[in-house]
Amino acid sequence: MRFHKAELFFFLLIGLVALGGGFAWAAFSAATGGTIVGGVETAANFAFMSTVLSGLSVVCGVVLIFPIMSRGLRERGKLQEMTESLSVRSQSLEHAAVTDSLTGMYNRRYFDDALTEYLNAFRRIEKPIGMAILDLDHFKKVNDTHGHDVGDEVLRQVAGCLQVYTRYHDVVARLGGEEFAILSPNITEQQLHVLADRIRLAVSQLNVKTGNVTLRVTVSVGVAIWDGLESGEELYRRADKQLYEAKRQGRNRVCAA
Ligand code: GH3
Ligand code: MG
Ligand code: MG
Repeated sequence: MRFHKAELFFFLLIGLVALGGGFAWAAFSAATGGTIVGGVETAANFAFMSTVLSGLSVVCGVVLIFPIMSRGLRERGKLQEMTESLSVRSQSLEHAAVTDSLTGMYNRRYFDDALTEYLNAFRRIEKPIGMAILDLDHFKKVNDTHGHDVGDEVLRQVAGCLQVYTRYHDVVARLGGEEFAILSPNITEQQLHVLADRIRLAVSQLNVKTGNVTLRVTVSVGVAIWDGLESGEELYRRADKQLYEAKRQGRNRVCAA
């Protein structure tokens, strides 16, 4: 068995203290005429040895053990700091992996995972789930006319609208470009339609200021209620088909499957 340097110094300290104690006891015994005979002179010699050993114990503690201990504690503190900052970093990386940096919303990856999870859970409890896919109308024209930065601001404001009108347990995500999606558990077809239309109206009432121009945008929405059997992809495709239908019918409207 190998001992660490600090452990060896600690054994040395214990030895010195024990030896010092032994000499102190011997001094006391010689002075009081106990087991050890020898009188005052012997007692004084033993007392001297005991003092020397006590001094050595202190030196051993201060010079050998204390620096090792404090270095160890400092290193442990530093290591803990590093571990904490690493864990914060990995949490923020995890967050970044599922977040859209422009709007702060969940991204497509998160949405797809949530969809699979929700469908699995709701299949067991036989509850409804609704999906809405939203796509801004003629958004390319917004970029072309007012610039990409204004387009980005529109996307942020639309994202804000979605957050305001959805419920806590709805999953709201930016799927990419100017397309957003809502996954809404425990909702009827009629409620989903009302929710989608409320968002559509709120988006159409947004005032995006750019210079001295106030910009208005609209959104088309396709909604579908899960039939309890289809896969997430099939549900998405049905909602997306309705979005296409909303575009075809003239945009700024909600179409349901
Ligand atoms: P539609 O009504 O048929 O949906 O027409 P649209 O112009 O909205 O659709 P289209 O697919 O032709 O154009 C989408 C535009 O969205 C093109 C692209 O420049 C813009 N876009 C995609 N992502 C971003 C983004 O992150 N920021 C900005 N500013 N624009 C983006
Ligand atoms: Mg569009
Ligand atoms: Mg699009």
